[in-house]
Amino acid sequence: MRSFTTFDLQYAHRFYKFKGEAQYLHGHTGVLTIEVEDSVNPGVNMVFPCNEIKKTAWAVLKNFDHALILREDDPLLSAVLGVYETQGIKNGAPTNTMKGAAFKTELATAYPDCRLVVTKETMTVEGMIKIVYDLLKDKLNIAKITFTSGDNAASQEYKPSLTIDRCPQCGITLGENGVCPKCGYKKH
Ligand SMILES: [Zn+2]
Ligand SMILES: [Zn+2]
Repeated sequence: MRSFTTFDLQYAHRFYKFKGEAQYLHGHTGVLTIEVEDSVNPGVNMVFPCNEIKKTAWAVLKNFDHALILREDDPLLSAVLGVYETQGIKNGAPTNTMKGAAFKTELATAYPDCRLVVTKETMTVEGMIKIVYDLLKDKLNIAKITFTSGDNAASQEYKPSLTIDRCPQCGITLGENGVCPKCGYKKH
């Protein structure tokens, strides 16, 4: 069976070198749905607590919220960073508090201090799905990711392959030592 969670991401981007209006900088509220698949955990009668899927995903994905997402070869990148630098906000501002942990993968690099994500490929809905899977595939047993943004929507199915030890008392992933980080349950 599957448990899933959905959340909004508000971001600005453009399709560099695309021959349409999307080559101009613009914004979206994207809706991301992550489905995880596993057996039903008999202790709690659920696959996985949805708020925990959200918490795990949001820890990295909040880097995309209220962020600017540009492709690595987009000349807007140096232009924007130049303005941020002049303004003194390139390396952070006291009001910029909703930051995720910085990350760097093959497909994307997050710079939380200036709310910027630099991508290898154009950040289409398909591109976003690839980035999200890459960031979370080792943490969640992902069966499907769906991303919609304006009229654009895409989804991809995956074969869940992780073996995740879940707490029989609260359903979350047990730590490496077999102890639940939330309720303290210890696996015998
Ligand atoms: Zn767009
Ligand atoms: Zn627990």
